[in-house]
Amino acid sequence: MTTLTELHDWHRDLRAQFPIITGNPDRAYLDSAATSQKPRAVLDAVQRYLTTANANAGRGTYTWANATTALVDRTRTRVARFLGDPAPQQHSGVHFVSGTTEGLRTVARDWLPHHLRDGDEIIVPFADHQANALPWLEAQRLLAGQGVRITVRELPYDPASHDYDHRALAGLVTDRTAFVAATHVHHVYGGDMNVHRIRAAVGPDVPICLDAAQSVGHLPVDVGTLDVDFVVFSGHKAMALPGTGAVWARNTRGPVFTPGGWNGTPNTCGIAALEAALDWLDAAGPDRVRRWNTALAARLTDGLRTLDPYEVLGCRSSLAADSRVQQREGIVTFRHRGIGSNDLGFVLDSHGLMVRADGHCQARAGERESSVRVSLHVYNGPEEIDRLLSVLRGLR
Ligand code: PLP
Repeated sequence: MTTLTELHDWHRDLRAQFPIITGNPDRAYLDSAATSQKPRAVLDAVQRYLTTANANAGRGTYTWANATTALVDRTRTRVARFLGDPAPQQHSGVHFVSGTTEGLRTVARDWLPHHLRDGDEIIVPFADHQANALPWLEAQRLLAGQGVRITVRELPYDPASHDYDHRALAGLVTDRTAFVAATHVHHVYGGDMNVHRIRAAVGPDVPICLDAAQSVGHLPVDVGTLDVDFVVFSGHKAMALPGTGAVWARNTRGPVFTPGGWNGTPNTCGIAALEAALDWLDAAGPDRVRRWNTALAARLTDGLRTLDPYEVLGCRSSLAADSRVQQREGIVTFRHRGIGSNDLGFVLDSHGLMVRADGHCQARAGERESSVRVSLHVYNGPEEIDRLLSVLRGLR
């Protein structure tokens, strides 16, 4: 039985829990890599919090203030457990941020400068999201102003598989390599970047920071297996509200992560949403979520392969139906050879198909031309893929 048939009832029950999806049957939301839709359980949790316990956290000592402080503390542990941390808070910590961009900038601003010494080298990706390139360059500039010279090297790519070139990475490592930044799932090509191989390539001592914006909420993320030092993600891409996200820090390689500055009031109702979202995702089953999303993506690439005017970006060999190469984790990006991607985006919207059409915030070594990205989640179904393919087939 195919995954889509096997998980059909599971998907139908989950889809019914998204009011914005069921309330708009003529529209297909195909931009979940930008932000996810929210299930009723998350909307209810926010409503419940705001109507029963809304107060500030970490300040007052009355009932609602204590309940809010407890919510924030509990959700820290919830995030750590969701990421497979076996002993939350023994060494590790969770810091709430507004999303992956702020999270990576916080690591670059408040941790990296304490870790690096003059002459150190760091290795960072330049064809991933710019949020995972610019903060490290900012840190380099900041340190240069203090007389500390840091060399920034590019995390090597294999142009055929669009995966990192783990062998070339091993060749870049020297005794001055002090930090590596990587991405778990690529936000344009949709590939799992096999980050477990990075640890093998760089050895046991180099801290690794993982941009997990496109993996948390889409597939099981286990800090035990990955052996990385930071996991940074956006809660709003994982069913929670906008303005939520977190940095998980292992705190065993290099200094302890202690975000500086005065942050003031935390996003308490966002944190209530994040707690509910992680409960919801655990109940849905991250492994089934992954199987569903990759099966939908495969249905789309299978269809696009038969349409001559379209070029699918990313790993070519994984387009074959029987490919054993990595699958696309619910993200498929393509171009029409004759129609500009922005025009294509408008045309698809006029058919109720909401996709992302632009350069996708890729850093400097990314694609030069814009493209159309379809990104899927559990509320999407095979009929939406077929509808999209049928519109694409009809375009000249
Ligand atoms: N990193 C990746 C891989 C992303 O896909 C995104 C968002 O599209 C980000 C970082 C930035 O996330 P946010 O806008 O939530 O800060």
